[in-house]
Amino acid sequence: MSENSNNHTMPVQEFEYKAEMKQLLDLIVHSLYTHPEIFLRELISNASDALSKVRFNALTDQDIIDRETELAIRINIDSKELTFVIEDSGVGMTEEELIANLGTVAKSGTLGFMQALKEQQQELDGNLIGQFGVGFYSVFMVTDEVTVETRSARPGSDGYRWRSSGQGTYTIEKIDKAERGTKISFKLKEASKEFAEEYRVEQIVKKYSNFVDFPIYLDKKQLNSITALWQRSKNELKEEEVNEFYKFIANDYQNPLDYLPVSVEGMVTFKALLFLPTEAPPEMLYRQGDLENRGPQLYVKKVLIQQECRDLLPEYLRFIAGVVDTEDLSLNVSREVVQSSPVLAKIRQILTGKILGWFETLAQEQPEKFRTFYKAFGPVIKIGLNTDFTNRDKLIELLRFESTKTEVDEYVTLKAYSERMGADQKEIYYHSGTSRAQLLAHPNLEYFQNMGIEVLLLSDPVDVFVIPSIHEYNKKPLKSIEKADIDFSKQKKETEKDKPLAGNLLKPVLKLFRETLGEGIEDVIESHRLVSSPVTLVSGKDGLDSQMEKMMKMMKSDMPAGKRILEVNTSHPIIRNLAGMIMANENNPLIRTAMKQLYEGALLLEGGLDSPTAFLSRMNELIEAATLSR
Ligand code: ADP
Repeated sequence: MSENSNNHTMPVQEFEYKAEMKQLLDLIVHSLYTHPEIFLRELISNASDALSKVRFNALTDQDIIDRETELAIRINIDSKELTFVIEDSGVGMTEEELIANLGTVAKSGTLGFMQALKEQQQELDGNLIGQFGVGFYSVFMVTDEVTVETRSARPGSDGYRWRSSGQGTYTIEKIDKAERGTKISFKLKEASKEFAEEYRVEQIVKKYSNFVDFPIYLDKKQLNSITALWQRSKNELKEEEVNEFYKFIANDYQNPLDYLPVSVEGMVTFKALLFLPTEAPPEMLYRQGDLENRGPQLYVKKVLIQQECRDLLPEYLRFIAGVVDTEDLSLNVSREVVQSSPVLAKIRQILTGKILGWFETLAQEQPEKFRTFYKAFGPVIKIGLNTDFTNRDKLIELLRFESTKTEVDEYVTLKAYSERMGADQKEIYYHSGTSRAQLLAHPNLEYFQNMGIEVLLLSDPVDVFVIPSIHEYNKKPLKSIEKADIDFSKQKKETEKDKPLAGNLLKPVLKLFRETLGEGIEDVIESHRLVSSPVTLVSGKDGLDSQMEKMMKMMKSDMPAGKRILEVNTSHPIIRNLAGMIMANENNPLIRTAMKQLYEGALLLEGGLDSPTAFLSRMNELIEAATLSR
């Protein structure tokens, strides 16, 4: 072929780059780049585009040349001679196309932008260079002279050789080229000789172009093992392959918990393959909910644009790994443009809906998987509840709670709760604290347990910030059982034994409690919720839930403690005994000691007791009194 191409049936023509082009090349080669390896990504991406085009054209054009040729990219390197050749069987270029494509800058304004970058001393990194329609020229980072031999796939086309050293001129001559497509060859600069090493080329291809839809061969070896799985439909996916793919892109050693193929056509067109990890990523565990720098990979027409594209998902869903591939963005799109692109906003909106639907389906159809998911990512759903108001209702349906009617590690939804609550129950009750055991032991629960009313047990620290904000579900208000203003008028029939104190006996007890506890407490009232405990603390109508208060104190230590209401169980023996002691001798110091102790015992239970020493010495005092009377 080289003999033929030297036969000079047509003279070698010399062309000048446009003035702008000269400066641009100079910038690319001498000032701005930091990752010379991306030249290969750019060349492969161009080759892949050319192959996609010819594949498309072949659909309608019977006369296209070399119809039967394999659609492939071939790389040949020689580590001694430092030669590098990349060849594709794509659409190729006519002479006019060569001049138009490789002699001018495709986009207006590119030069200005690049100069601005240079002035700001910014470096043109791998991601930027391809974004300005100058990808091809990045090859001048690694070589001093490039030869492009190309032949268009159009019937009757000729071959052309384009050659340039990137110094202001290029030449074009007609050659004999047997097959359609484009062959780019050059000799690597000494400083770039690494790119003539097999392992290095393989590494770069794997890194940037592993999922290019056409085989990439280095000599006879195919480098890109994994094909574009996300382009396949669900029943074409093999579990094992999918798992390997996940591990590769997510850097996980475990298989994914589940995956979701997505294919959307309409306002936007994209395909995606999304993965639910089995475990939360470390940054979620160590820096609560911080998924700042995660996101699926963004491909445009099968070319990787961004490794972790944050803009594809709302932050709370960025633990989802995967690939999104769209036809609706230009390959040259810059990161800034991606961010504000309406296409991405639309994709994000659709993906969010699909993902939440996916979770719901898991919950319905694979409850075991959903449980694993919820254990790892439940907190994320709650974050979403406070940030993604559009999907709030869907997120609320995904919430799972332990309750007084679930076994350990079983959960109830708000829907199930509201469906099984009694007809006369007007509110959905919850109880928040630090653990299931602590919650179950709390006196405030006694009434509800006694009456068989289900109470949600909230022990996840974020619950108190999230659950109250739901306000109501199915028109039933959510209410903390700590609140004083719950309707306790329904009571089990009282037996003779636990008859409450009559008013004339009760009043002095409440009065003395108030005097003894003084400023520390908002009020002392008769309780209708207690069954077996003597006293409990509740919060007023507008007061904070105790758990919420604790959390807020942790964040803001000087927050004044809100005052609580002490409720007294007037059918409890201790309270009845105290009433008797008051009748006998109101000034018996034991009465006040007992009252303080009862109050602090209630505080202790909530984790709000500041001074265990005083509590202990008072307890010893009481033990002493009790043992003395024997
Ligand atoms: P971009 O690919 O971003 O448009 P490039 O500078 O990389 O910018 O390439 C300019 C143009 O040259 C391409 O748009 C394409 O039309 C043409 N081109 C580059 N490489 C090839 C190739 N291997 N086969 C066919 N055409 C090519």
